[in-house]
Amino acid sequence: MTQPTFSTHLGMVDILPDETPKWQKLEQIIHEEARKFNFEEIRTPILEQTELIARGVGELTDIVTKEMFAFERGDDHYVLRPECTAPVVRAFVEHHLDQRGGSQKLYYIGPMFRAERPQKGRQRQFHQFGAEILGADDPIADVDMIALMMSIYNRIGISNTTLKINSVGDPESRKAYKNALKDYFRPKLDQLSDISQKRFENNPMRILDSKEEEDQPFIEDAPIITDFLNEATAAHYTEVKNHLDSLGISYEEDPHLVRGLDYYTRTAFELISPDLGAQDALGGGGRYDLLVEEVGGQPTPAVGFAAGMERLLIACEELDIELAEPKSVDIYIVTIGDNARKWALKHLPKLRNADISATMDYIGRSVKAQMKDADRENARYSIIVGDNELKKGKFTLRNMKESEEQALDFDAIIKKLSDQ
Ligand code: AMP
Repeated sequence: MTQPTFSTHLGMVDILPDETPKWQKLEQIIHEEARKFNFEEIRTPILEQTELIARGVGELTDIVTKEMFAFERGDDHYVLRPECTAPVVRAFVEHHLDQRGGSQKLYYIGPMFRAERPQKGRQRQFHQFGAEILGADDPIADVDMIALMMSIYNRIGISNTTLKINSVGDPESRKAYKNALKDYFRPKLDQLSDISQKRFENNPMRILDSKEEEDQPFIEDAPIITDFLNEATAAHYTEVKNHLDSLGISYEEDPHLVRGLDYYTRTAFELISPDLGAQDALGGGGRYDLLVEEVGGQPTPAVGFAAGMERLLIACEELDIELAEPKSVDIYIVTIGDNARKWALKHLPKLRNADISATMDYIGRSVKAQMKDADRENARYSIIVGDNELKKGKFTLRNMKESEEQALDFDAIIKKLSDQ
């Protein structure tokens, strides 16, 4: 075999035809569940203004400092979107979606881009589905959002998951907490990892998110945010937990869950799968009550989640969940000679119009090779069409699995296949 001249960029993955049925099925499930929860789909461009992402996601986050695919063209600064909350919020503000009335319940599916070091469950182009509720402060919104996320996993059959929740506080409680964290980490600063030392000054909460070995003992004993919540924020968090209890959604409180993006306030959550290995987060989200204003809109409380589709599919593989049926076609028309080929081309639409999937050979193969091809295509039925069959108007319909045959005219074939 010759070496191919071109390949995808590092961390960019082709989804090949053997894989696409799973993706289509997953997308179908997401659309169906979102409809049940009365969410509407939104599709935003892949390219956004760099400044939107920097401000929306946070200047000091890993995504913005290290992982953006960004470029300039003329005076414009473009970035391939690394996530979709900031773009959805931009669209909400730009198109005054608040004027549609009530809270806006939106969801999206699509590719995101982050220049991370690729490994299992981590790519540079990956896919997320996610949802946002804009304009609702009530803890019921947080919980209905979590319920939507969980219902998608449950429907797929991934039920062995852990939902971790926390409250990351409102700006007032966060200020007090950040000071307490700094007081705690300051005397230990030179024992922390380089990355945590860098985060200390501007973003000490992110130290809690560190995966570095040397930070772990210090993180374990660090003060926890829930001790610093003001009354209103604590009450909101309690209600979220009460509503989760009432829905029978089990959760673990994780006081060190801070999430990587700057815009979160109050409720934060993450869904973890033990079947994923090192990259074990299926998805996560939380409240971002300050983001709409940050992007130029009116103050608007909001909550959302984003979930990785590659990781969901890896979890399916680990759990032997077959999302999609193997490929198949209802009928393969095997042709002998030119008349039969022309006849087949004209009759394929009649089958397809009756919602029967149908195909034929395009490259003049022998009958034997066409039968082999029909097997490879996993055809449920085949018919062999030659001059004799055309003269009689009767065709032998072969059930490929059971090797049964029946002579029928074409209309009877359509009827038989559409009845099944
Ligand atoms: P985040 O937007 O960082 O909260 O990520 C939400 C979810 O997207 C994660 O829990 C993962 O399932 C998925 N995800 C994030 N980054 C990647 C990546 N580089 N490759 C694959 N999946 C990812």
